[in-house]
Amino acid sequence: MQNHDWPDTLFTQSPPALGNQFDDDPLLGSWLKRALPASILAGLHGELRELGALAGGELYRLQLADLPNEPVLTQWDAWGKRIDQVAVSPLWREAERLAAKHGLVATAYEPELGRYARIAQFLKVYLLHPSSDVYTCPLAMTDGAARCLLNTGHTGLIERALPHLTSRDPATFWTSGQWMTETTGGSDVGRSETRAVQDGDGWRLYGRKWFTSAVTSQMTLTLARPEGNPPGGKGLAMFYVEIRDAEGKLNGIRVDRLKDKLGTRKVPTAELLLDGTRATLVGPPLNGTRSIEPMLGITRMWNSVCAVSFMRRGLALARSYARQRKAFGQPLEQLPLHADTLAGLEAETWGAFLMTFLLVELNGRLERGEIDDEQRALLRLLTPLTKLVTGKQAVSVVTEVIESFGGAGYVEDTGLPQLLRDTHVLPIWEGTTNVLALDTLLRSDLHSGLAALMGRASACLRNVSEPRMVAATQQALGALERAALVLESGQDPEVMQAGARRLALTLARALQLTLLCEHAQWMIDHGGDRRGYAAAMRFARQPVDLMTEVDPAADRLLLG
Ligand SMILES: Cc1cc2nc3c(=O)[nH]c(=O)nc-3n(C[C@H](O)[C@H](O)[C@H](O)COP(=O)(O)OP(=O)(O)OC[C@H]3O[C@@H](n4cnc5c(N)ncnc54)[C@H](O)[C@@H]3O)c2cc1C
Repeated sequence: MQNHDWPDTLFTQSPPALGNQFDDDPLLGSWLKRALPASILAGLHGELRELGALAGGELYRLQLADLPNEPVLTQWDAWGKRIDQVAVSPLWREAERLAAKHGLVATAYEPELGRYARIAQFLKVYLLHPSSDVYTCPLAMTDGAARCLLNTGHTGLIERALPHLTSRDPATFWTSGQWMTETTGGSDVGRSETRAVQDGDGWRLYGRKWFTSAVTSQMTLTLARPEGNPPGGKGLAMFYVEIRDAEGKLNGIRVDRLKDKLGTRKVPTAELLLDGTRATLVGPPLNGTRSIEPMLGITRMWNSVCAVSFMRRGLALARSYARQRKAFGQPLEQLPLHADTLAGLEAETWGAFLMTFLLVELNGRLERGEIDDEQRALLRLLTPLTKLVTGKQAVSVVTEVIESFGGAGYVEDTGLPQLLRDTHVLPIWEGTTNVLALDTLLRSDLHSGLAALMGRASACLRNVSEPRMVAATQQALGALERAALVLESGQDPEVMQAGARRLALTLARALQLTLLCEHAQWMIDHGGDRRGYAAAMRFARQPVDLMTEVDPAADRLLLG
């Protein structure tokens, strides 16, 4: 029987559609041709297209169907035994299988691709991440743990854990945690209270870890203070812990609860009590914050790639919607102001991509010993800088993406609110924006880092010939020079700290603009494609130099 109150002709809106995320990316194709030798690209092309199809197709559909599922902690079995089992969502189980199969960690450690291995790895991450419900969180820590163990040269642990961490077989693949944050502080890790007590050849840990993501991992690296050690970061040491024994019993660990979080809700982030957890000391019994630094270098790079990848996903959805949603008689994309809004987001995404993959490229060089001193100095500066700027860009771009859907962007079963919430973690974990800004500007090797940054930006200027892009590159170089003058002026430390975020963002945005102009010129010279030019010009019209006068006394007055 026909329902006459609800006619078949009633307007319904089609959802945004995702195509192959490799083919549809407006920047990837040209960047790949420029960055990779043809033979390496030819070897990767098939798998990248496969991942692009998966991320925009089957896995994306599975992700939407999986929206209501979240991890579940079961602390007790039916007979009163404490078990602390965590069950993850179906999509997470699939993401784990795909991550192992496609070597999302392993690729970086395989010798065949030489210094291009990191690029190959992170292209896969870039494509898959937004459809993985942040399964990239445990993958980042796994990669960080592998690099950290290799750097320590601890043969026993390398032989034990590395084959698992870099496995392509889902049956033998392990992930790792990174347990640092305690209730006393995540930024100020030196205040950690977890104690390490020597027990025969090994150690036992006692304390509380306040944020431990991916508690389903098989191992972790963590920090604790060996008894008798001094306070502060210097007194901490780095330990290796296997989370369960061969029977699946927890290693002196109690999972007190899973965090009820704003986003990353598929990631089981737990509060843990360590009560006699068996552990192996990795590296010296002091300076654990230094020992764990290689892990942070890697996870910050993952954070940057995931930030760009979320921006790209948001824009892919927004552009699809703008093609089919009509307002005032026209598709949204034909409305000049809507087009201008999306174009601004595109420009940010291009800038963030080029900076992030410069960082990735330099890491690949470092790990294969094909890096000179200047590139090494640039890499050290770029690691915190890229993480902090891309985290902020991702939040700003994805927030605007939500608005570009109008009311639909605010509705849970579109999947868009999850994208926004997940993006919001990027400026927080792996070092907040402020902490990384200070890390950037107060480092002892800042001088060489700045010189390397200026060197890279000047190289961009040499590679650009189109007059408006020459002017834009000079504009960026001017901002860099002003920032360098401030940094080297020896200002009052309080003033320097108060201005650190704006200084760091200025350095980052100026570099992004120069990289954009350089790539745009390459695109023009290799086939006449002017989209890069449009991105560079658009980026140049957005604020690049963010430095302003700083007045800590006025700040304090305002905050009462
Ligand atoms: C979803 C999620 C998962 C996480 N997973 C893990 C995990 O697996 N392992 C782990 O170890 N941690 C994890 N964390 C913790 C995360 O790394 C910390 O929350 C983060 O480092 C900040 O530490 P905090 O929460 O103690 O904030 P605080 O350090 O208390 O910082 C509070 C505010 O003060 C600012 N601030 C701090 N110091 C300064 C300064 N000197 N100058 C200016 N401003 C400053 C910060 O920028 C921040 O805005 C996770 C967090 C989240 C949200």
